[in-house]
Amino acid sequence: MREKKQLQTSVDEIEMLIRYAVPEKERAEAQALLGTYRANAVGLQVLKEYYSSLPEAREEPVLRIVHIDMRQGVFLLGLSTGQHEYIYFATEDEADCLGEYEETGGDPEILEYFGYAGKEAFLQLHPKMAEFDDFSKKWRVNKALCSVCAVAVGEYHHLGCPVEVCPWCFGQLSKCNCRFDLIQKEEMTSDEDLERFETQLQQKGRICFEEGQGPLYPALPKRR
Ligand SMILES: [Zn+2]
Ligand SMILES: [Zn+2]
Repeated sequence: MREKKQLQTSVDEIEMLIRYAVPEKERAEAQALLGTYRANAVGLQVLKEYYSSLPEAREEPVLRIVHIDMRQGVFLLGLSTGQHEYIYFATEDEADCLGEYEETGGDPEILEYFGYAGKEAFLQLHPKMAEFDDFSKKWRVNKALCSVCAVAVGEYHHLGCPVEVCPWCFGQLSKCNCRFDLIQKEEMTSDEDLERFETQLQQKGRICFEEGQGPLYPALPKRR
């Protein structure tokens, strides 16, 4: 999760973008929605992307963001201005517009990533964007995401995430010494070393994210 200061910087930036992008009489609505997403790094990325690139140069305020899907810290979100609906994919670091909802343009690979066979299959399952839950609500329910890399319960952490537990010593995988024992070297110096370690890690079986795991968990790695 992002630090408060970083979130505030994003909020300030979006407020400025809104002043340029949205006509005065609709600004209050745009601000109200921004308020809802003040502490939501993913929501802020989407708003920043929307207001900085304004699809079709339409100067409309965002009135709603909905949660469509989520996988390994990547979110598929819908964004509505009341007059137009768009589909976005987003992480805590970036967001990109895939086009208007009904056209679900953009990259079919993104839809495939979320398990949809394509645009038609997606729209058949979800003909109306309005049916999805508010992303702000879902985000609160989904507190059970890794607090660092945002994967869900049962998913693998992004490699290097400090929350991931080592399957050999049950310490912190990003800090423990198991890797050096495994590759039989004092330090990792090449991509090859890293690949060898990753292969062994896959074979051993990585430990998925579970509720309650945090950067300090487990507090004291067991000595081997
Ligand atoms: Zn993680
Ligand atoms: Zn270890």
